[in-house]
Amino acid sequence: MTYADVIVNITAHALDRPFQYRIPEHLRGRLEIGSVVTVPFGKGNRPVTGYVIGLSDQPALEPERIKELSEAVLGASDEEKRLTGLAVWIRDRYGSTMLQALHTVLPVKRKVRAKESRLVILQLPEDLAGRELELLKRKHQTARARVLEALIEEQSLPWEIVTEKLHVTPSVLQAMVKKGYIRIESTRVYRKPPLPEALAHGAVSLNGQQQAIVDSVCGEWEKNPCGRFLIQGVTGSGKTEVYMELIAYAVSRSEQAIVLIPEIALTYQTLMRFYHRFGDRVSVIHSRMSEGERFDQFERARNGDIDVMIGPRSALFTPFPHLGIIVIDEEHEESYRSEQAPRYHAREVAFQRGRMEGAKVVLGSATPSLEAARAGRTGELTLFKLNQRARAVSLPEVGIVDLRTESRDGSFSLLSRPLRDKMENCLQKGDQMMLFLNRRGYASSVTCRSCGQVIKCPHCDVSLTLHANGSLACHYCGYEMPMPDRCPECGSIYLRTFRAGTEQVEEEVTRLFPQARVLRMDRDTTSEKDAQLKILSAFASHEADILIGTQMIVKGHDFPDVTLVGILLADLSLNIPDYRAAERTFQLLTQAAGRAGRASKSGCVLIQTYDPDHYAVQCAARQDYEEFYRQEMAFRSMALYPPAGSLIAIHCSCADRGHLETAARYLRLFLEKILKRTNAAVLGPADENVAKINDIWRMVLYLRGGSAELLREARRRLERYIEANEGFSTVEIQFDVDR
Ligand code: ADP
Ligand code: ZN
Ligand code: ZN
Repeated sequence: MTYADVIVNITAHALDRPFQYRIPEHLRGRLEIGSVVTVPFGKGNRPVTGYVIGLSDQPALEPERIKELSEAVLGASDEEKRLTGLAVWIRDRYGSTMLQALHTVLPVKRKVRAKESRLVILQLPEDLAGRELELLKRKHQTARARVLEALIEEQSLPWEIVTEKLHVTPSVLQAMVKKGYIRIESTRVYRKPPLPEALAHGAVSLNGQQQAIVDSVCGEWEKNPCGRFLIQGVTGSGKTEVYMELIAYAVSRSEQAIVLIPEIALTYQTLMRFYHRFGDRVSVIHSRMSEGERFDQFERARNGDIDVMIGPRSALFTPFPHLGIIVIDEEHEESYRSEQAPRYHAREVAFQRGRMEGAKVVLGSATPSLEAARAGRTGELTLFKLNQRARAVSLPEVGIVDLRTESRDGSFSLLSRPLRDKMENCLQKGDQMMLFLNRRGYASSVTCRSCGQVIKCPHCDVSLTLHANGSLACHYCGYEMPMPDRCPECGSIYLRTFRAGTEQVEEEVTRLFPQARVLRMDRDTTSEKDAQLKILSAFASHEADILIGTQMIVKGHDFPDVTLVGILLADLSLNIPDYRAAERTFQLLTQAAGRAGRASKSGCVLIQTYDPDHYAVQCAARQDYEEFYRQEMAFRSMALYPPAGSLIAIHCSCADRGHLETAARYLRLFLEKILKRTNAAVLGPADENVAKINDIWRMVLYLRGGSAELLREARRRLERYIEANEGFSTVEIQFDVDR
C-alpha cells in the first residue's frame, strides 16, 4: 500500500475528513488502521498528529500533489490501534464524524496530566550546603535560603510543602536545580478509587443451573473465542455469581474482563462483591470521577495492573492488552445507548470489539431487550436461563387494579381503594412499602378514562401528543388531528392527559396516612450530591415506612422489609410516543415487582392502570417473559420496527425555524429519490417530542423498512449530499440507528 488516509487530530469540524499522504518507503507494510502518525499539515507544513483510518494503492489526486507523511509515532500501543479500528467501525455503523468516533473510543484527552508525586532532594553534602546557605543569606536570596535551610534539616521535602508552605516558586527551584543544589524526583502515582474494606461475603458454591452455564462457556473457550451468550434470569437468580466465575476463568488464563453495569445500578454492594473476589485487580470508572481519575484507570488497564474493569457504557473502551470477556449486566437498559453522536449501542459495539479481539460477550437480564431475546432464539446468541432465585424466596404476588372502575365510581385519587387497603395492612404489620410513579414518560398523551384507550397515530401505532395549540400530533410521521371532544373508541367525554407528579402522591399519602413516615426520591429531592444515597440508606434503616419515587427507586437496591410495591400509573410509560413503549413498561413493571419480598418475607405488588388488558401489563403481572416476547415481536414484525425491520432517525436542529423546515424538506426529497423502487420509506419531517430546546428548533425524519444495509447505504449517500451543500452548514444533523 502506497497511500494512507489520515484523520488529523484537530478538533475542528471542517477537518473531519481524511487527508491522503504518501507512505515513505521505510514505512510501507508497517502501517495499519489505527497507527498514529505525524504528518505535515496545511500551508506551513506544520507537523501534526493523525490517525490512519484507511490504506490504499490509489492516489486520490495527482500523485505529485500528495505529501509524504513524516513518521509513525512509536509507542502507539496495539490497544490504541485496535480501538481506532473500532472507531472506524462505529463511524460507519452509526454515522458521525470520524473525530467524534475517535473521541468516543479514546475518550480521555492526552492533555490530562498524570498525577505525580514530586520530592525536592538536597544534592550538596551538608558542610557545603551550610556554606552556600551563608552565601545566599548574605546576597539576600531569601527564597533559596529558605529551601536550603529546610533541606539541611530534612534532606528531602515534598514539592507541595516547598511551594505552598515555604512559598517558593517553581522557577526558583529550577534555578537551584541548575546550580546543582537540589534535584527533583517524581514518581508516578495513580489515582486509585478508594478501596472499600472487603466485606465478609461468604463464597458461594454454584447451583446446578449456574454451574451448567459456566461449564458450557468455559468448555469451549478456545474453540469459540468470540462466543456470545445471553443469561436470562430473574433478579436474584445468581447471574452476578456466574459472571464472577467466568471472569475468574478468564483471569486464570491471563485475559482481562470488562463488566458493564448501568450507572444507576453501580451500587456499593455490587462493587464490594467484585472487590472481595478480585481484590485490587479490579478498578471502576463512573461519571462522578474526574477525567484524570478515569485516565489513570485506563492506564492501569493498559499497564496490566488490573484484570477487571467495572463501569457504565464508556468502560467498554478500556484498553486491555488481552481482553477475554465482556459482561453486560441489565443489557436491556436504555443507558447503554449513547445520547451523543456517535449514538452507538454498547451491546452492538461489544459484539464488534469481541469479534475484533477474540473476546466473549455475555449479556444478562431478567427482561432482555427484544434484540437480544430474538438473537437468543435465532441462535446468534447462546441462550441460558436461570429461572429460580438463588436464595429460596418466592416471587411476589401481583395484582392489577383497574382504574376505569375507580373513576366510574367517582374515585380519582392516585391511591385506589384496593391499594389503600393493602397500605393500611402493611403499616399495621410494621412493614415497609414503595410507591412508584414513572414520570420519565410524556404526560401529554391523551387517554380515555372510561375505556382506557390512548389516542394513537393511524400510521405509526404510537400515541399522539397534545400540543399547546390544542392539536394532537405524531412524532414519527408528522400526522396531525384536532383534539376530539369524545373518545373515538367509546364516545366517553373523559379524555385526559396525565398530570401526576410525585409531590401530589406525597400529599395524598400524608393526607390519608398522617401517622406514616414518608420519604420521596425524584429529581427534585436528589439534585444534591449523595442525596440519593442518603434517602436510600435512611429507608434501609427503617427511618421511614413509605418510599415514594420515580424509576430511580426500582433498580438494584435490596430492602428486606419491603412487602408492598404500588405502581401508581402503568399508563405513563405505556403511552410514551415510542415504538418501545410496551417493552419499557414490561421491563419497569417486572423490575418494580422484583422489589417486593426480597428476603424472608413474601411480598405483594399492585399495578394500577387504565389499560389492564394490555399484554405488557398482563405479562408483567404473571412474570411471563415468553408470552410478552411473542406478542411484542408480532407487533414489531407487523409494523416493521426493530428488530424485525430497520430504522434510522435523522435528527436535525437549527436556530432558524424556517431554515430548518426547508433543510428537512430537502433531506426528504433527496431520500425519496434514492429510495425509489426500494422497500424503504421516509417518514416525516416532524417536530421532535421536545420541539425546541434552548431556542434551538428540532425536527426528525425516519428511514424505515428495507434491510439494515440498504438504510446504511442511504445514510452514507445522504452524508455526502449534506457535506456537498452549503445550505446544511447551519443545521446540526445526527443519525440514530434503530431507535
Ligand atoms: P443476580 O445477579 O441474578 O441478581 P446475584 O448473583 O446477585 O443474582 O445473587 C442473588 C443473591 O443470591 C446474592 O446474595 C448471591 O450471593 C446469592 N447467591 C447466588 N448464587 C448462589 C448460590 N449458588 N448459593 C447461595 N447463594 C447464592
Ligand atoms: Zn373511551
Ligand atoms: Zn405517525
